Amino acid sequence: MNQEKKGKIFVISGPSGVGKGTLVKLLTGKHPEIVLSTSVTTRVPRPGEVNGIHYFFIEKKFFLDRINKEDFLEWTEFAGNYYGTDKNIADSVVKQGCNLLLEIDVKGALQVKEKRADAILIFIEPPSIEELKSRLFKRKTESDKEIQERLSIVKSEIDRKPEFNYCIVNDCLDRTFHELETTVINEINKTESYK
Ligand code: 5GP
Repeated sequence: MNQEKKGKIFVISGPSGVGKGTLVKLLTGKHPEIVLSTSVTTRVPRPGEVNGIHYFFIEKKFFLDRINKEDFLEWTEFAGNYYGTDKNIADSVVKQGCNLLLEIDVKGALQVKEKRADAILIFIEPPSIEELKSRLFKRKTESDKEIQERLSIVKSEIDRKPEFNYCIVNDCLDRTFHELETTVINEINKTESYK
C-alpha cells in the first residue's frame, strides 16, 4: 500500500504563566521538524512581538468575521481578547506529513480534541497556584488587573486536566522539558497515521 504519512497535532495547554511558552521554545528549537502554529489574535502586540511570527494581529471585527466563516479549528475569548487557530493552515501542515504544535488555552485545547480526536493534548500544570501568581507578577507583561483576570480562571482550567492525554507538572524547567520532549517524541514514533 502506498500511503503517505500524515503529521500529528500536539496541543500544549495550561494556565497563563505556567511556562508553556518557554517549554515550546525549547522543544521547537531542538526539534525544528515540529511546526509551531502561529495563532491569530485581537490582543495588542507586546514590545518585541512581530506580526506573522508571534501572532497574526488583527482587529476584532475581522476576527468575528472569520468566526462566522468557520475559518478557525478552535478559538477562544481569553482575558478580554480573542485568539484562534487557522483551520486551513493547520490541516495543510498535517497533510504535508509535518507534526504541528499548538500552544493554546484550555478551552481551545478541548475544542481541538472534539474536532480532531487523534490530537494529543498535554496539560502543563503549575506546582501550586501561589507559584503561578508569583511567576505572573515577575514576568510583568500584564497589568495587575489583567493578572487578576488570568488568575481567576486557573481553578476552572485545572479542573479540566483529566480530559488531557498527559499532564506534566512544571516544577523544574530541565526535568519538565525532558518529560515533555520524551512524551512528544514517543508519540511521534508510535504507529503512524495515514492521509
Ligand atoms: P498571551 O496573551 O499571553 O499571548 O496568551 C494568552 C493565552 O492565550 C495563553 O494561554 C495562550 O496559550 C493562549 N492562546 C494563544 N493563542 C491561542 C489560540 O490560537 N487559541 C487559543 N484557544 N488560545 C490561544
